[in-house]
Amino acid sequence: MDNRIDNVFRALFTLEDLREIHRNALPTGLDAEEEEQYRQVLARLEGIITDIEQGRAAKEITKIAGTIDVRTREENFINIQPIQAAGRLTPEARKAVIAYGDGYSTCDACRKPFRLDKISRPGISEFHADLAKFVNMDQARVVPGARRGFQAVASTLVAKGDSVIVSALAHYTEFLSVENAGGVVKEVPLDNSNIVTADATAQKIEEVIRETGRSPVLVMMDHFDYQFANEHDISGIGKVAHQYDIPLLYNGAYTVGVMPVDGKKIGADFVVGSGHKSMASVAPSGVLAMTDEWVPSALRTTGMVGDVTKRKFGIKEVEMLGCTLMGGTLLSMMASFPTVKARTLRWDDELKRSNYFVDRLLKISGSKVLSEYPRKHTLTKVDTTMSFDTVAKTHKRRGFYFSDELSSRGITGEFAGATRTWKLNTYGLNGRQIRYLADAFTEIAQKYEIPVQK
Ligand SMILES: *Cc1c(COP(=O)(O)O)cnc(C)c1O
Repeated sequence: MDNRIDNVFRALFTLEDLREIHRNALPTGLDAEEEEQYRQVLARLEGIITDIEQGRAAKEITKIAGTIDVRTREENFINIQPIQAAGRLTPEARKAVIAYGDGYSTCDACRKPFRLDKISRPGISEFHADLAKFVNMDQARVVPGARRGFQAVASTLVAKGDSVIVSALAHYTEFLSVENAGGVVKEVPLDNSNIVTADATAQKIEEVIRETGRSPVLVMMDHFDYQFANEHDISGIGKVAHQYDIPLLYNGAYTVGVMPVDGKKIGADFVVGSGHKSMASVAPSGVLAMTDEWVPSALRTTGMVGDVTKRKFGIKEVEMLGCTLMGGTLLSMMASFPTVKARTLRWDDELKRSNYFVDRLLKISGSKVLSEYPRKHTLTKVDTTMSFDTVAKTHKRRGFYFSDELSSRGITGEFAGATRTWKLNTYGLNGRQIRYLADAFTEIAQKYEIPVQK
């Protein structure tokens, strides 16, 4: 580990101390006492810079508010944690967090009619239009996570007892959003290769109609699921949904922000994405986009009138509870957006690296890939029961030997202690990092005498 990393954090925090002096000063400038304080903080900063220059380790462990550890996982390690890879912030997003971290920071220039998506300074309104275009839909709103997008749609379309079609690999938040609206999920079973097909979806719809006498009110489907990251026939499923006149919610938690997504081409009525999973943004953030057809219902504005005061709240949208991401979360999304847009065009390179790693893993005798192969995603479920787990049986650290070996090589994010079936995500690793990662797995195998093919 590079001992400059701790000092970089110390320097950043010291700059914040400097900033705080400005915040406490009068607009006319610093007084004598503050100037003295300023000199002291600056001297401290210079000391830290010297430490960095001379490679001197920090004398004490830096904590935030005396108790919170500094998180240096992304600086000290190659992080292959399945849900964290594409949510890592861009440097632009980190700068936005520094500058817009204060509470309701987006509201400086909020003018009538007082709604987040109408604010033009900073360019929030333009960002909403760009977001809609990005997924090729008509309208977009930012929401606190993909789950809040599901919730808004379910609460609009699903009444008590209504059926909603989901996949047998659906995320728990899809279940919960339907439950929250009083509906019932109906899962489409998988085929032999763990794929949801259009035919199976049609069959399930028929079955629900037969059993309940009513058509499902929504199809909520993951393009790539979270368990295998297999690609499901989302366009075919969209066609089927429309044949039955059921709207399709495209769950792009693992796609929007990493690969191109064309909502209209897919036939989606709603496109939902996750900011903190796939758009290099602070949590909780996400996007809910839709076609114009759904705006009057899903984005209906308030009609409520106070009985005593007769107050009304104009164009506030009910499902959004007025405004959603009102500070650093939104600004992080906006700051990452140019990079995120550009990176979706390089998805093929991500896939090459993902497949390179998987191919190297498969050369380690006994290793298997449980996801579809070749990979169409950077998230992969692997089975190392017959390779790395054979060592765990006799090792005094059991499955933890593997985590120990990885972390001693600067690799983190695998499920600690897991040596049987587990997931990893190579998103964002560059060519050198991906080779390093593959070499590390090979080295560990060789160390424990697991045969490795050339
Ligand atoms: C992560 C994930 C979600 C939840 O996303 P949030 O933005 O955290 O709400 C939903 N669906 C799938 C398929 C996911 O992988």
